[in-house]
Amino acid sequence: MRPAGGSHAAQEASERVSGPDQIRSSDMRMTPSLPPALRISGVEKRYGNLLALDGISFDVAPGEFFGLLGPNGAGKTTLISALAGLVIPDAGTIEILGHDVQADYRAARRALGVVPQELVFDPFFTVREVLVMQSGYYGIRDNGPWIDEILHNLDLESKANANTRALSGGMKRRVMVAQALVHRPPVIVLDEPTAGVDVELRHALWQFIRRLNRDGHTIVLTTHYLEEAESLCTRIAMLKQGRLVALERTADLLSRHAAHTLRLKLSGGSLPASLAARAQASSSGEYCLSLTNLDEVETVLHALHAAGLKVADMELGKPELEEVFVELMRAP
Ligand code: ATP
Repeated sequence: MRPAGGSHAAQEASERVSGPDQIRSSDMRMTPSLPPALRISGVEKRYGNLLALDGISFDVAPGEFFGLLGPNGAGKTTLISALAGLVIPDAGTIEILGHDVQADYRAARRALGVVPQELVFDPFFTVREVLVMQSGYYGIRDNGPWIDEILHNLDLESKANANTRALSGGMKRRVMVAQALVHRPPVIVLDEPTAGVDVELRHALWQFIRRLNRDGHTIVLTTHYLEEAESLCTRIAMLKQGRLVALERTADLLSRHAAHTLRLKLSGGSLPASLAARAQASSSGEYCLSLTNLDEVETVLHALHAAGLKVADMELGKPELEEVFVELMRAP
């Protein structure tokens, strides 16, 4: 499956983008700067008095696995709809691989595959018919071999001739992913693809999406499962009430905003005052301390030793994206 190239490195990936936006490595010599997979510049969208998108700007590089996070109503789906040309922004511009979504709609749309949040199907067709028709929308004929490959990779072969109305929710979700891929888009946007999906399918879906990313596709993901975003996305944007409140590499976001937590249980006695002030005690006698860096573990152990206290149990927890998310969403 190699519609868009073959490596994590953004540069390499963009060298291999195929299909209508094909850029060959030989062209690179003449193309000093490749367009970003997405360029979102000053995008605003108003619904009546509500400013759903309040001047959003960021780029996504070719080959990135990018997370777009935010609480309900933050504006994620509005932004994705604007990428797909389904919502017209009141201000700002959006380009997909250098194609303006408004002025150059066809080329922009061809470069993009969107897996929408809602499951919408025409109930009178089989899975294969849906995919053949979808290929037709893009003017692609004889797409059978590619459709077979998608069906195989999404474990949908046995359902190829089943009517879409007879499919379970999880199977329908796979068909939505398949539909978004029929035209081999170099940029794939997934709007909460694992909402309401069982664990097995979630893992299968992520394995497949990871592979598409390894093959060079740019992936933009929205999800409310923060551990999913943490393990998959190399960079994350967070939206809050239509505004961009964070845009960082996942690792930097974690190290700058989240703390390590140290859980301690003592053999006897209680924490010395210097530590008690910054610890939370649970009813089971366990203490939880937030550490800004790992060197503090040594300081804590030293203070315990100096107070003649012994540790019965200890666990060091890694910073989690959920903590960062809660902190950023709480901030005024
Ligand atoms: P969720 O996580 O719940 O999917 P979201 O981040 O995708 O939320 P949006 O669906 O983009 O958020 O909605 C952003 C804001 O715009 C919300 O307050 C929503 O009520 C509002 N909104 C979205 N679409 C419309 C519409 N067609 N008409 C009026 N308001 C809308």
